[in-house]
Amino acid sequence: MDPTDLHIVHYPHPTLRHRSKPLRRVDAELRQIVHRMLELMYEHRGIGLAANQVDLPYRLFTLNISGDPEQRDLEHVFINPVVSRRSGGMAEAEEGCLSLPGVYAPVRRAARCVLSAYNLQGEQVHLKLEGLFARAAQHECDHLDGTVFIDRLTDTARASVRDDILLLESEFAGKLERGAVPDEQAIAERLGELESLRT
Ligand code: ZN
Repeated sequence: MDPTDLHIVHYPHPTLRHRSKPLRRVDAELRQIVHRMLELMYEHRGIGLAANQVDLPYRLFTLNISGDPEQRDLEHVFINPVVSRRSGGMAEAEEGCLSLPGVYAPVRRAARCVLSAYNLQGEQVHLKLEGLFARAAQHECDHLDGTVFIDRLTDTARASVRDDILLLESEFAGKLERGAVPDEQAIAERLGELESLRT
């Protein structure tokens, strides 16, 4: 795989529904993949990007809540992340997602949580998070379980984004028809092959 070929897939691409297994090791290719994911995240003005969003079945995501590549101290790579100790009640705020361009809606999530993961150096990290960092970490961890933020909307919020979602669905159906994306079975086979090499 050539990491420079990676690109962001849009809902309802099947890889966004894939539940990824933990990675066993970090190697040079994985570091190149992460580098490309950071590049794509900044290019598309996002603050987080999960591996499913670049069509890869790996349990990792990149994050920089400033969205600013110059703010390297806020840039993180989380491998095999786990969210725990949700606390502080629920907080509601608007979310968007690079895989659902044009869709924005309020989502309720735990106000605080602990994120445990490995970084690219293979060191274990435990971070107590709140605010946007806590929200983004929960949003990205959801991706690794095949959950997208529109799954968490209230009925009212869902109704408000219905047309935008229908538009994404018809765009994806068009790509399938044109052969611009492989069919579901081919996607599943490719994910299985990639997964067997690293997880
Ligand atoms: Zn997202």
